[in-house]
Amino acid sequence: MSPQCENCGAHVSAEYHRVRSGNDGVLHGCPSCTSPATRQREAAGLEADYKVRTDAEGRTVVDRGGEA
Ligand SMILES: [Zn+2]
Repeated sequence: MSPQCENCGAHVSAEYHRVRSGNDGVLHGCPSCTSPATRQREAAGLEADYKVRTDAEGRTVVDRGGEA
């Protein structure tokens, strides 16, 4: 069974899901979510270490905090 992102429906690896999912076991964001069409505000609000914002020129900026 391949886990998927609850935000955009994209399939992700089991490892990615385990690492990035919240305490509720739900993955609220993934790399595919960087598209403005699929991104939801809650993806940023629910994951403190995964923030998506838009800069002054309208481009999507992904800020993973201190994580490499
Ligand atoms: Zn996603």
